[in-house]
Amino acid sequence: MDNDTIAAISTPIGEGAIAIVRLSGEEAITIANRLFDGINIEGVTSHTIHYGKIVDPATNEVAEEVMVTVMRGPKTFTREDVVEINCHGGLASVNRLLELALAEGARLAEPGEFTKRAFLNGRIDLSQAEAVMDLIRAKTDRAMNVALKQMDGHLSKLIQTLRQELLETVAHVEVNIDYPEYDDVEEMSHEMMMEKSKRVLKEIERLLQMAKQGKILREGLSTAIIGRPNVGKSSLLNALVHENKAIVTDIPGTTRDVIEEYVNVRGVPLRLVDTAGIRETEDIVEKIGVERSRKVLKESDLILLVLNYGDELLAEDINLFKAVEGLQVIVIVNKTDLDQKIDLDKVHHLAKGNPVITTALIEEKGIDELEQAIADTFFAGELDAGDLTYVSNVRHIQLLKQAKQALTDAMNGVEQGIPIDLVQIDVTRTWELLGEIVGDTVHESLIDQLFSQFCLGK
Ligand code: GDP
Ligand code: ZN
Repeated sequence: MDNDTIAAISTPIGEGAIAIVRLSGEEAITIANRLFDGINIEGVTSHTIHYGKIVDPATNEVAEEVMVTVMRGPKTFTREDVVEINCHGGLASVNRLLELALAEGARLAEPGEFTKRAFLNGRIDLSQAEAVMDLIRAKTDRAMNVALKQMDGHLSKLIQTLRQELLETVAHVEVNIDYPEYDDVEEMSHEMMMEKSKRVLKEIERLLQMAKQGKILREGLSTAIIGRPNVGKSSLLNALVHENKAIVTDIPGTTRDVIEEYVNVRGVPLRLVDTAGIRETEDIVEKIGVERSRKVLKESDLILLVLNYGDELLAEDINLFKAVEGLQVIVIVNKTDLDQKIDLDKVHHLAKGNPVITTALIEEKGIDELEQAIADTFFAGELDAGDLTYVSNVRHIQLLKQAKQALTDAMNGVEQGIPIDLVQIDVTRTWELLGEIVGDTVHESLIDQLFSQFCLGK
């Protein structure tokens, strides 16, 4: 692996006022020292910070007042020597610092190259590396916490435990085959194999279950507001947008392609699907029929079904209930300021256990209750537990699904009485697939591709 010195603008999340140029590699300290007008930083203790000026060696002009942090490997993020030049200036000054570092022999880092080095130098595993990327993209505090946990290695530990169990199983079978004369090693029976597989499968399924939650945290809960014309859908949309601070992503140096409109409702990111925000589907059922609209609505993670308190339930309302059966729904009975004509018992019956909230949006009433219902729906029960390891990465989810399949194949083999040494092939495959999540068995090209998705400077 190259250990030439790389440099990039690397400004940490949430510290917009300070800009940082980060250098990593053999020459990091030497290069920085050539630019630095202050003490000789080649002689300083590791992990110390120094005030001084950056001077252009070509012209002797002072470019910037800075604080320089010197960190010697291997106790750094990349395990190489790292220098961070902190300045208070804007983009122009930080760009100038970067240019000077490049002129002195550093190479512009590829996107994700710092993190790639951390991974290749054994500082972090792949799922932690990917968590860095998630962190950059995290849209709410909760999503941020998930990414932080993953970076912390919670997922890695869980996966490694499962791999260990599988490896023990495989090793056991190997011993049976290679040393049949070892009478004291119990022969792996179909029952034992089944029991172990079942346990691991249950854990994989649990992770997949969490994956859905993680995905929503990252990408936002895609939300549709449906209801007959004039019930108050637009009013609801406006209320949600106005009550809640829209999530803006203006972290300098982060990728811009992920910017979408979101509102953060008590930690639940609602994805406002199109420009108007939430898709308005007033006449979707009428237009394309119950069956087809069901298919469209199925793509939503959450449906807000709005009814009119001052009106009787009509056939159209009933059709809406049919179209959303089995989906995640919150029923909103709006316009409670009007005289009641709706049959609320019937609404509750049709809602089939989904929450029913009453609002008078025109008087800004009931919005709190609705927001609480949204939060409760999403963070209900077990998933509210603070210390869950969420799986939020598409690649991880794919691998978990494949691992689940391989293990299921193994279990089917056991059930059909296939010899254990053949069943073992699928168990080994499961072990390999889980290994790809933490980076033990991944290929070079995949690593390149993954890290190139990172933001520059990370
Ligand atoms: P949409 O067609 O479903 O999007 O409904 P709108 O949000 O455009 O609202 C239709 C009409 O109902 C507008 O005139 C709103 O001001 C009114 N409206 C909305 N919420 C309420 C409410 O709680 N009470 C009453 N009386 N009128 C409301
Ligand atoms: Zn409308």
